[in-house]
Amino acid sequence: MMSLSPKQVTCRCGHSFTTTRDRSWCEKCADAVYYHEKDKNKHRFNSMYVIGIILAVVTFLTYVFMELIASPLLSA
Ligand SMILES: [Zn+2]
Repeated sequence: MMSLSPKQVTCRCGHSFTTTRDRSWCEKCADAVYYHEKDKNKHRFNSMYVIGIILAVVTFLTYVFMELIASPLLSA
Protein backbone atom coordinates (compact mmCIF):
# COMPACT_ATOMS: atom_id res chain seq x y z
CA MET A 1 0.00 0.00 0.00
CA MET A 2 1.19 3.48 -0.84
CA SER A 3 2.30 5.55 2.13
CA LEU A 4 0.67 8.95 2.20
CA SER A 5 2.16 12.07 3.69
CA PRO A 6 0.09 13.62 6.48
CA LYS A 7 -2.54 15.89 5.02
CA GLN A 8 -5.16 18.19 6.48
CA VAL A 9 -8.63 17.09 5.37
CA THR A 10 -11.99 18.63 6.13
CA CYS A 11 -15.17 16.64 6.65
CA ARG A 12 -18.40 17.97 5.19
CA CYS A 13 -19.53 18.66 8.76
CA GLY A 14 -16.64 21.12 9.01
CA HIS A 15 -14.35 19.10 11.27
CA SER A 16 -10.71 19.24 10.14
CA PHE A 17 -8.01 16.75 11.04
CA THR A 18 -4.75 15.29 9.77
CA THR A 19 -4.78 11.89 8.08
CA THR A 20 -2.33 9.59 6.30
CA ARG A 21 -4.92 7.11 5.05
CA ASP A 22 -6.93 6.97 1.82
CA ARG A 23 -10.14 6.90 3.79
CA SER A 24 -10.63 7.76 7.41
CA TRP A 25 -13.60 8.38 9.64
CA CYS A 26 -14.61 11.76 11.06
CA GLU A 27 -14.44 11.84 14.85
CA LYS A 28 -17.40 14.22 15.07
CA CYS A 29 -20.03 12.68 12.79
CA ALA A 30 -18.45 9.28 11.88
CA ASP A 31 -18.73 10.05 8.18
CA ALA A 32 -16.09 8.84 5.71
CA VAL A 33 -13.48 11.45 4.78
CA TYR A 34 -11.29 10.84 1.74
CA TYR A 35 -7.63 11.82 1.37
CA HIS A 36 -8.17 12.55 -2.33
CA GLU A 37 -11.30 14.47 -3.18
CA LYS A 38 -11.70 12.49 -6.43
CA ASP A 39 -11.92 9.20 -4.48
CA LYS A 40 -15.19 10.40 -3.00
CA ASN A 41 -16.68 10.81 -6.49
CA LYS A 42 -15.30 7.45 -7.61
CA HIS A 43 -16.83 5.79 -4.58
CA ARG A 44 -20.17 7.45 -5.27
CA PHE A 45 -20.03 6.34 -8.91
CA ASN A 46 -19.33 2.75 -7.85
CA SER A 47 -22.32 2.84 -5.49
CA MET A 48 -24.58 4.14 -8.26
CA TYR A 49 -23.28 1.44 -10.59
CA VAL A 50 -24.06 -1.32 -8.06
CA ILE A 51 -27.55 0.10 -7.45
CA GLY A 52 -28.12 0.18 -11.22
CA ILE A 53 -27.12 -3.48 -11.58
CA ILE A 54 -29.43 -4.49 -8.71
CA LEU A 55 -32.34 -2.57 -10.24
CA ALA A 56 -31.72 -4.22 -13.63
CA VAL A 57 -31.71 -7.69 -12.04
CA VAL A 58 -34.88 -7.01 -10.05
CA THR A 59 -36.60 -5.67 -13.19
CA PHE A 60 -35.52 -8.72 -15.18
CA LEU A 61 -36.71 -11.14 -12.48
CA THR A 62 -40.05 -9.32 -12.29
CA TYR A 63 -40.39 -9.62 -16.08
CA VAL A 64 -39.54 -13.35 -15.99
CA PHE A 65 -42.03 -13.89 -13.17
CA MET A 66 -44.79 -12.08 -15.06
CA GLU A 67 -44.08 -13.93 -18.33
CA LEU A 68 -43.58 -17.47 -17.01
CA ILE A 69 -45.78 -17.63 -13.93
CA ALA A 70 -48.37 -14.87 -13.83
CA SER A 71 -49.40 -14.90 -17.51
CA PRO A 72 -50.22 -18.67 -17.76
CA LEU A 73 -52.23 -18.44 -14.54
CA LEU A 74 -54.21 -15.44 -15.79
CA SER A 75 -54.93 -16.96 -19.19
CA ALA A 76 -55.86 -20.40 -17.81
ZN1 LIG B 1 -17.72 15.03 10.21
